[in-house]
Amino acid sequence: MASRGAIPDREVKRLYAVSGNLCAFTGCEQRLCEPGDSGEPGVVTGEMAHIVAASRQGPRGRGVLTDDERNSAENLILLCERHHKIVDRRPRTYTVDVLTEMKRRHEAPFLAAPTEATAAPVVSETLLSSLLVVSELPQQIRSAPYVAASPKEVAATVRWDADEGPVAFITRERRLFAFHDLRSASGPFARSVDRGAVELLTARDLCSTSDGQRWYVELLNRTLSWHLRSLGMRFDQGHNRYYFTLREDGSSPRMDYRSKTGRAMSRDVVREAVRRDGTSRGFWWHEAVALRFLPLRGRGCVLSVRPEYHLTNDGREPLDGPLVGRRVTRRKSRIYNGQYIDGIQFWREVITAGRPRRVLRVGGQRLVIENELLGCDITWPGVPNDVLALAAGPVPDDLLSLLDAEDFASDLDDDFDDDWDDDEG
Ligand SMILES: [Zn+2]
Repeated sequence: MASRGAIPDREVKRLYAVSGNLCAFTGCEQRLCEPGDSGEPGVVTGEMAHIVAASRQGPRGRGVLTDDERNSAENLILLCERHHKIVDRRPRTYTVDVLTEMKRRHEAPFLAAPTEATAAPVVSETLLSSLLVVSELPQQIRSAPYVAASPKEVAATVRWDADEGPVAFITRERRLFAFHDLRSASGPFARSVDRGAVELLTARDLCSTSDGQRWYVELLNRTLSWHLRSLGMRFDQGHNRYYFTLREDGSSPRMDYRSKTGRAMSRDVVREAVRRDGTSRGFWWHEAVALRFLPLRGRGCVLSVRPEYHLTNDGREPLDGPLVGRRVTRRKSRIYNGQYIDGIQFWREVITAGRPRRVLRVGGQRLVIENELLGCDITWPGVPNDVLALAAGPVPDDLLSLLDAEDFASDLDDDFDDDWDDDEG
């Protein structure tokens, strides 16, 4: 008799993994796991029998194995209830050698590496990343000494004209760097710099040092930041992400976008967290995104897009404290792959306004973000359609998940009491 408790989980899993869900007794077609139906869970009916018994007194008990060896997958055979009884009652017929051979024959097909003949045909597919293609970058950077007494005072000298397009600069080593032509007497920096001491740098020159490359990327990030603010987004400095805010009248902006299959969708980007009965939880969810340009080795950049959440206590003021991190982390931990991909799709549509590309004109130069995720073509065995379909429906139980469920059913903590699941509503 095999007692479950003595056999380590790892060995149980190894055993079930090569069982093919069938009793190992030659010719038996009894399944080891009965699927559930009409809401009832599935049932594991398979039993683990020791080939050399767990104790010296048991059937086939006089082998020379240590306790660990007795409870290893190599010494276990998975049988239906009936065959478990039969082999244990007739140890002279079902000897160690007979059972070992039965096990070997039964498991061989599941242990074998796929051969040419049995390997699944390979398919060619495109894997998409969360990186947007950046097809054009400003190539000229100008720098000049700024006239303000300190870097903090520089912003006050800049003419922030919305009609001008993105206005972005950084200050380093008592100089102001920008994509604009700093010599211009009518540009946004006319009052900010010494226009007689302007130096021109190419992107390539600037990026030839790691410091210079960071400055260049910072200028790109600030250019994008200007654009996102013009869309009504704010920047959460502490968490490094942009988020939507409520309109003046207290309503949520509603963003239209296309799903990845091209369907017209629309989404409230600020939502009050409510319980099932409609009462407020006292905080608000804001769609948010972490965006940053990443320099590529060699030349060029990509824009990394990471969907996030931002929490406020009234739709405006950031909620703070340890609960926030916990809530956001838990919410993110419940985002399935499909939702994450939807999030990336949403943001690429927001950034490009659903057009093929977003062209930001900055100081007469162009920063162009394509509505296209960086991807690569791969040739691989592929994921079967029934796996892809899991996102749409409940995941069917399999042997290992049932075993896990048996083990962990008692460990379920207050996970489902948490006031979380219903705010999706
Ligand atoms: Zn059987």
